[in-house]
Amino acid sequence: MTVVRSFPKGGIHPHDDKERTRNGSIWNAAIPSVCVVPLRQHWGPICERLVETGSRVTEGMLIGRAPVDGAHVHAPVPGIVRRIRTLHIPECGECEAAVIELSGAFSKLGKDLDERDWRSMPRKAVLALLRDLGIVELSGSPLPLHHSLQHARRAGVGRVIVNGAESSPYLSSEDRLMQEHCSELVTGAEIIAHLLHTEDIVVAIGADKKAAAHILRNELGKRQSSARVLEVGTKYPQSAVPQLLRSVQRKEIPYGKDEHEVSCFVLGAATAYATAEAVLFGKPCVERVLTVAGGGIARSGNVKVRLGTSFREVIDECGGLDASSVRIVSGDPLTGFEVTDLDTPVTKTTRGILALTRSEIRDAERRSCISCGRCVRACPMGLEPQRLYKLIEHGRQLKAEANGLNACTECGCCSHVCPSRIPLMQRIAKSKTEHFSDYRATRQPTYVEDQL
Ligand code: SF4
Ligand code: SF4
Repeated sequence: MTVVRSFPKGGIHPHDDKERTRNGSIWNAAIPSVCVVPLRQHWGPICERLVETGSRVTEGMLIGRAPVDGAHVHAPVPGIVRRIRTLHIPECGECEAAVIELSGAFSKLGKDLDERDWRSMPRKAVLALLRDLGIVELSGSPLPLHHSLQHARRAGVGRVIVNGAESSPYLSSEDRLMQEHCSELVTGAEIIAHLLHTEDIVVAIGADKKAAAHILRNELGKRQSSARVLEVGTKYPQSAVPQLLRSVQRKEIPYGKDEHEVSCFVLGAATAYATAEAVLFGKPCVERVLTVAGGGIARSGNVKVRLGTSFREVIDECGGLDASSVRIVSGDPLTGFEVTDLDTPVTKTTRGILALTRSEIRDAERRSCISCGRCVRACPMGLEPQRLYKLIEHGRQLKAEANGLNACTECGCCSHVCPSRIPLMQRIAKSKTEHFSDYRATRQPTYVEDQL
């Protein structure tokens, strides 16, 4: 019997509606005639713009150069830069964007590319490839991968955990990636383990993803790999790093530290895939797979999309919006951001596009706290959300921090269970952001207050 490991305290089981998307194959969205490419698509500094209006660009050309702790940005399509505009991306803040009109030939798309022998390359060269090709963590906190890896190397990390838990409601793109691109995914994990001088790889996979787990076990058997598959629970937020580590390692990350403190490097399944594509074929991060779902969308599914494609075009690709759709969300319904402008482009941080109907959001009237304690029981970080909320409302920031404010992972469990519909997570997240003094202060999360 397979043992399923779950995290012990807190968490919830929201309606996840994954059935509509997890059984269909990933398909390629049409290449848009215009791509809007923001010069910051991760948590970190804005890239230096390398193109002007009128510049000709080729597929995958470097158009935004990041400083050492950032992620470069590349042209997703060949064409001509028609203008430079400023826009706001909820996850990353305000920045310039290059508007590229498609023209000319693709150099990589649809071509058979030679596979690099990465094992014969010096580790430094592999790491430089990940930096040069702008790879970021695509499923969790969108940090530049090369930078996180350098940090992990210094910390002497001994285990790589591929995060295949994907517990966010509606989202199933990583489940599909694990089923359809299992070989690349395992190679990506092997590359990361090689860079960290370890062979200890664990693929933590949600117990609801039986098909993916079966395919992975077969692939690992074929390769005679020492990596192993570990089934973890399906409770939300199982895929958040602290909860994943509690399940896999049976360890807590100390307050104010990261997973390197418990000698682990956590890599999202989509990031493992992007790593393999970059290192084997030299592909920059110019596309991603995302879930398009919700009661308001005509054809739900998982789509591979060129970055810079507008939400409108992705939605049209999926048959358009139903009249019942009342809200468009980037991400998942618990922690995603409302998108009011459908010309917003898909970026490296876009995990999903949801068109939600009235019955899929909870817009009940807000009332006073009735001290029911549900938010405390739901918090997977062991915090007291109602207490943090009150401290923030009374301007007692330092006291809130002393009560663990910065340990909040913005999972949204507290807001979800609150019968008084108090926007606990939204207020806590805003307070954290207001008091950051680094780039995270620019992301201005626009969480809606009556989410699922
Ligand atoms: S959003 Fe923060 S406070 Fe609320 S349940 Fe999640 S970790 Fe706890
Ligand atoms: S769940 Fe809502 S009503 Fe209950 S204690 Fe928390 S804030 Fe108060």
